[in-house]
Amino acid sequence: MNPGENRTIGEMPAGPGPILLVRVPRPRLAPARVYPASLEGSCSISTAAPSRVALPAFPPALHLPTQKSALRRRLRGVPFILLHLAAVASACLVAPTWTAVGLGVALYVVRMFGITGGYHRYFAHRAYKTSRWFQFVLGWLGCSAMQKGPLWWAGHHRQHHKHSDQEDDPHSPIINTVWWAHVGWVISGRFRHAPLDHMKDYGKYWELRLLDRLNWVPGVALAAVCYLIDGASGLVWGFLVSTVVLYHGTFLVNSACHLWGRRRYATTDQSKNLWWAAILTLGEGWHNNHHHYQSCARQGFKWWEVDVSYYTIRLLGLVGLVWDVREPTEKALAAKLIDGPQAE
Ligand SMILES: [Zn+2]
Ligand SMILES: [Zn+2]
Repeated sequence: MNPGENRTIGEMPAGPGPILLVRVPRPRLAPARVYPASLEGSCSISTAAPSRVALPAFPPALHLPTQKSALRRRLRGVPFILLHLAAVASACLVAPTWTAVGLGVALYVVRMFGITGGYHRYFAHRAYKTSRWFQFVLGWLGCSAMQKGPLWWAGHHRQHHKHSDQEDDPHSPIINTVWWAHVGWVISGRFRHAPLDHMKDYGKYWELRLLDRLNWVPGVALAAVCYLIDGASGLVWGFLVSTVVLYHGTFLVNSACHLWGRRRYATTDQSKNLWWAAILTLGEGWHNNHHHYQSCARQGFKWWEVDVSYYTIRLLGLVGLVWDVREPTEKALAAKLIDGPQAE
């Protein structure tokens, strides 16, 4: 029987009257139901003939993967939370030694520079130049702070500057909450992947892409070294506690430095200069200065605006490891100054 041909579905029993044949149209095969590409793999494609009950446009089962992926996304923040719990619990159980405390302080400062001098001023803002091997050293040092890889970090930071305190800013305390800006965006799982479209300049180096993917390796290696130096105390106070304090020192720039402090320049965002954050972050707290002139290596524009990261970059320049250190021009320093009670 050909498609579309009528067929007999019933006959009256033979009797004295004429035989009545009832013919109904043959149902045509329904075309394959096609779902959006984003849903591929989450459901099977139906080729069955239509039933009496009309199928909904999107079967309820299609909503389940969305819930699962949301749960998976939230679970990605668990290691970060566990690291905090492990640091607090082990700090209560393991007594500090002077060696371990010294190690923790030294690793806070050195790794903070890995973030501020490396991830921020070099990878995100290209504020100076260096060789390919030292570029990798900066990337490794930044990774040892356990704040993901250089491409991930700098890519999101470029997004922050592009959309600062606007809708697409990943961590604005003005658009979102202080919690979100400080730590919520990190543990949300929404920013899992490195935004490589913002990092085409450094993304072309294979060793940086590899480091970005294996960004946990330098941190784990450093933890092992701390254990070798001072046993459990070295691991807990030298690495774990130091790493957690380092997280929140760095995160202050995203949260506190857009909320509290003084504004010298009329930038299009709410960035502020916050002196105590500048001390804790080796100079990053002069955040309004930085938003005003992003591409220079210096963030403390006045002599009293202590900027240890800048001094370190200058020292590295003196020994020939970095060069072409960018300075703010006189014209830029004098532009867009704010007059009024908030100004310095
Ligand atoms: Zn900012
Ligand atoms: Zn920046």
